[in-house]
Amino acid sequence: MKQRLIYADDFLDLFYVASAGQDKAFINTVEMVVNDTPTVDAEPVRRGQWMPYYEPMECFVDVYLNTEIKDVQVGWICSECGRHEQHSTVEEMPYCHCGARMDAEDKR
Ligand SMILES: [Zn+2]
Repeated sequence: MKQRLIYADDFLDLFYVASAGQDKAFINTVEMVVNDTPTVDAEPVRRGQWMPYYEPMECFVDVYLNTEIKDVQVGWICSECGRHEQHSTVEEMPYCHCGARMDAEDKR
């Protein structure tokens, strides 16, 4: 089951406003339940994306060993921190070293 985190203090602030004039025992019960609920240290998930990284390289263009300069993908760049990685596939790198989960929508 997927759980959602809430800001308990923000919830209580809204609850106090919404429950103005309600039974004090009810308000105290809700406040006690919220305050007794376990807490976690949570950070928002940072999402990034591996973007192809190109460098100009001399490439053979025919069997006569003629070459020309072409942009060739040599790795990947993290959209969040700019880190370069040389892995051949993004599937090998679900997270960047900066902590970003690499499943963001297309930023290219
Ligand atoms: Zn990164």
